[in-house]
Amino acid sequence: MDRLPKTFKDIVDRQKDLKVLSFFLVYINKRMGELQAEIKEEKSMIPVKVRKRLGIKENMKIDGLTITKEKVNCGKPNCKRCPHGPYYYAYKQVNGKLKRLYIGRKLPEALKPYYREKG
Ligand SMILES: [Zn+2]
Repeated sequence: MDRLPKTFKDIVDRQKDLKVLSFFLVYINKRMGELQAEIKEEKSMIPVKVRKRLGIKENMKIDGLTITKEKVNCGKPNCKRCPHGPYYYAYKQVNGKLKRLYIGRKLPEALKPYYREKG
């Protein structure tokens, strides 16, 4: 327990309410979960959010994926900022249909091999 930072120990030792201490535990568990997810995410390089959107598992070879960079019209009648972007999109076959899935303004390193310049 010598590795614990002094302020952390002080805060915990000073706390006499068991219920509050149990909240500390819950919080630490939550933090550990987040950190583990971050570490996993770093390894796979494709952010969890993007993976979910593309329906892919980490470190998995992705078949039939093409990524493009596009400017898009939002469809609002008097928009002065159109077109928006450019944003990266992934084109992927899902149940026999070609779907366009939003990635974002930045292309994750791991997805770069799938990028094709348009035109
Ligand atoms: Zn617009």
